[in-house]
Amino acid sequence: MIRSISSGLQQQIFRCQSVRLISSSTSQLKEKECPTECDVLVIGGGGVGSSTAFWLKQRAKDLKVVVVEKDPAYKQASTVLSVGGLRQQFSLAENIQMSLFGADFMRNYKQYLGDDVDLNFSPHGYLILASEEGAQQLTKNSKLQNELGAKNELLVAKNLKAKFPWISTEGIALGCYGLEKEGWFDPWALLMGFKNKAKEMGAQFVDAEVDGFACKDNDLNEVNIRMENGDRKSIKFNQCILASGAKSGDIGRMANIGTGSGVLSVPIPVEPRKRYVYVFSTQGDNCPGLATPLTIDPNGTYFRRDGLGGNFLAGRSPSEDEEPVCENLDVDYNYFDTDVWPTLATRVPAFESVKCNHSWAGYYEYNTFDANGIVGMHPYYKNLYIATGFSGHGIQQTPAVGRAISELIIDGKFKTIDLTRLGFERIINGEQLLEINIV
Ligand SMILES: Cc1cc2nc3c(=O)[nH]c(=O)nc-3n(C[C@H](O)[C@H](O)[C@H](O)COP(=O)(O)OP(=O)(O)OC[C@H]3O[C@@H](n4cnc5c(N)ncnc54)[C@H](O)[C@@H]3O)c2cc1C
Repeated sequence: MIRSISSGLQQQIFRCQSVRLISSSTSQLKEKECPTECDVLVIGGGGVGSSTAFWLKQRAKDLKVVVVEKDPAYKQASTVLSVGGLRQQFSLAENIQMSLFGADFMRNYKQYLGDDVDLNFSPHGYLILASEEGAQQLTKNSKLQNELGAKNELLVAKNLKAKFPWISTEGIALGCYGLEKEGWFDPWALLMGFKNKAKEMGAQFVDAEVDGFACKDNDLNEVNIRMENGDRKSIKFNQCILASGAKSGDIGRMANIGTGSGVLSVPIPVEPRKRYVYVFSTQGDNCPGLATPLTIDPNGTYFRRDGLGGNFLAGRSPSEDEEPVCENLDVDYNYFDTDVWPTLATRVPAFESVKCNHSWAGYYEYNTFDANGIVGMHPYYKNLYIATGFSGHGIQQTPAVGRAISELIIDGKFKTIDLTRLGFERIINGEQLLEINIV
């Protein structure tokens, strides 16, 4: 069955509790042919799902991996609507470590994804600003980040002004500036890189919507899907990965997660939260130059340059009681004028007269429990793995999360970065793992 796999890996696979390899004929399947069974089924082919398929095939080429994606043009996927930022300036070790691996992956991505992929990586530090009140926490975070391998420096107001002459330091006590391993990249290119490489290695992507599970002896073993042409089919699986982004809570409910009893009474606390990205242009006097960091004000308003032509992106997450309704991806332009522009104009006097000339909206796959990723096996369904809820910092973590899930499936445990604390158990136990640096 897995003749060409290395014997060490073969043993690891068989040691892992219940991976049953279905004879691999993926490569012979025509692209549009819908498989009826697989070893690993991934629900959602966004950044997280496609990275997971990539790592599984990279490490165990004879595993039959099927990814079901309902929106193959990715019109609503968080991945392609994100601003593609990568930073190590987090408060939790796991997030720092995952983004360090993200930086390493970005540096070597052609080795993983192929020479024809271009992530268009722009290496720029983040600059996180703190008031007197937040200075202590910023210092604590920076210490942990540097201990774990990130490289950033703390700058008091006077030094901030000297380094970034365009800034107003009104109300600012301290800034933390990333010196390396941070920047931004093209999320579409990363997604396509993962997806195309996974397909090249034999993963099959099916354009269909998962709309239910079949359950036998308390085990999930089959999904029901609706194809683009309306046909209904089902796919049997041995292991399933729930990587459905903002819809993950809904997919969980299809498996009784949140509607059952005992452990199953606890839902996957992930829902869509709309976020706006505004684009404006300026090249005025004392305007932040090409080396401008992605700058985040103490109130969460951020901006960065976009390209070489004087364009900037900006945004801000609303407070809990201002959360917009998530019926569609329409943009509230008023929010720029009332909640984003005032901070931009205060922090950067050169932004005083800017007007928003373009914008878009996307959904954070928001974890309402503690705004942090959920990664690991579901404690009730031992063949269901969850990888979702990254709440605004997930695209940079796709390399690490996909690899982590492949470790759980192939090795039966985390091997590189220990993500145990991100497991679903914390939600059942009511123990929040709060990431302070949510933007
Ligand atoms: C405006 C904005 C800015 C952001 N900026 C950053 C940033 O700077 N840095 C960063 O790291 N992160 C950022 N993020 C967050 C990041 O985009 C997400 O954390 C990450 O892309 C999540 O990837 P995903 O694969 O889980 O979700 P998605 O990309 O949404 O993929 C999930 C997929 O599941 C599919 N799906 C859902 N339900 C079903 C079903 N029933 N059947 C089949 N398929 C289904 C969907 O169609 C979708 O394609 C940002 C997000 C937004 C919205």
